[in-house]
Amino acid sequence: MKSADIRQAFLSYFEAHGHTVVPSSSLVPGNDPTLLFTNAGMVPFKEVFLGRDPRPYVRAASAQRCVRAGGKHNDLDNVGYTARHHTFFEMLGNFSFGDYFKREAIHFAWEFLTQTLGLAKEKLWVTVHVSDDEAERIWKHEVGIDPERFSKLDEDNFWQMGDTGPCGPSSEIFYDHGPEVWGGPPGSPEEDGDRYIEIWNLVFMQFDRDAEGTMNPLPKPSIDTGMGLERIAAVMQGVHSNYEIDLFQSLLASAALHTGHADTRNPSLRVIADHIRSCAFLIADGVLPSNEGRGYVLRRIIRRAIRHGHKLGAQGHFFHKLVGALDVEMGDAYPELREARHQIERVLLKEEEQFARTLEHGMGLLEEALVGLEGEVLPGETVFKLYDTYGFPYDLTADVCRERGVTLDEVGFERALAAQRERARAASQFGADYGTELELEGETAFTGYERLEDRAIVT
Ligand code: ATP
Ligand code: MG
Ligand code: MG
Ligand code: MG
Repeated sequence: MKSADIRQAFLSYFEAHGHTVVPSSSLVPGNDPTLLFTNAGMVPFKEVFLGRDPRPYVRAASAQRCVRAGGKHNDLDNVGYTARHHTFFEMLGNFSFGDYFKREAIHFAWEFLTQTLGLAKEKLWVTVHVSDDEAERIWKHEVGIDPERFSKLDEDNFWQMGDTGPCGPSSEIFYDHGPEVWGGPPGSPEEDGDRYIEIWNLVFMQFDRDAEGTMNPLPKPSIDTGMGLERIAAVMQGVHSNYEIDLFQSLLASAALHTGHADTRNPSLRVIADHIRSCAFLIADGVLPSNEGRGYVLRRIIRRAIRHGHKLGAQGHFFHKLVGALDVEMGDAYPELREARHQIERVLLKEEEQFARTLEHGMGLLEEALVGLEGEVLPGETVFKLYDTYGFPYDLTADVCRERGVTLDEVGFERALAAQRERARAASQFGADYGTELELEGETAFTGYERLEDRAIVT
């Protein structure tokens, strides 16, 4: 089954069960200035769940384009290392706004997977929250899940919109890719392996948490689910890695052609094939590379892709040349991408030209530093110089270092950065604020950076 057919089967199944099919929204959330990018299918429905945006339907289904490359959900560093993470992916979701609840949500998911898609029950594993006896009863007594493949877990199975507001337990469905792949079942110490892959997450919005932390039952509980299209496509196509599904084949071939590196299993080619999707869709949705906010996240992704091409020995500018293959693959489902194709190519080429000038020198400097390094920590001064002089975002340097088993001196980098800001401030007769930082973080109001690389800086 091709990805496009799975997407369609999902929407048709839920439409047949009374859901209104809603088109994908932009990657730039229109209803939430605190959120970096649309990172889940529920994002465009946030206000609907909160009862502030009345709609003519109480059930909806969508295939939502998502980016997880910054903020609370940042999978950028996973790309190239796991079989299941992308910066850009499509989330298939069904939603109930105070209409059906747990029972129906579980039955829909199970029926779709085992009947519509015909998956073997023995391959599916299920988790629920430790407190959720109701979901446990439905899975065990109504669905008849084998207790061997069922477990109750804690942190991974509770969802919240923010520190206050709607929240509730969740239930995750995993697919077992078989003993040839390393990894353990959910809840085991090896769960981060890629054998048991989470395919679908069902959230039961059941409580409203107030400022004191009290969880008050919602008068009309709601449902929010999300299933990664690429992950379910891998299952349906009998391949283990998302990068082996149909959607990626022509992208990988195009990346191989334009970098001159033929082995499409090379992790760097996979990084490039992943990154062209997020970059192209972000530009189509109006984001441009810049030194702050969303634009800085885009710039980081583009530069990471260019660096991986450089590592493969690509000559000249290659990244913008992949837009054509992406258009062939996804332009039918996303006309906005097709329409923006030439604009995307221009923006990427310009960024490639800009970065190429310093990439070579920066890589030379970094190589020298790594060769001469005593110990396993790259000094903050070097990281800062790469950043300041050569435009290497912190996480780009970290990406190179990770390949060599070297970590970065984060504190030293911070210190060098602060010193530079101080100089800039002192030099400005107006004392202007040079430290414009990313103010679009997390799912709720911005409360500080979780990690250094989540931050954008203007120099
Ligand atoms: P994981 O634990 O594998 O990182 P998650 O629990 O963070 O996944 P959710 O936030 O529950 O993911 O998102 C719902 C679904 O979207 C997941 O079950 C998965 O199928 C898909 N998904 C999540 N993150 C990614 C990603 N980075 N790339 C591709 N698919 C993803
Ligand atoms: Mg995750
Ligand atoms: Mg998970
Ligand atoms: Mg999950």
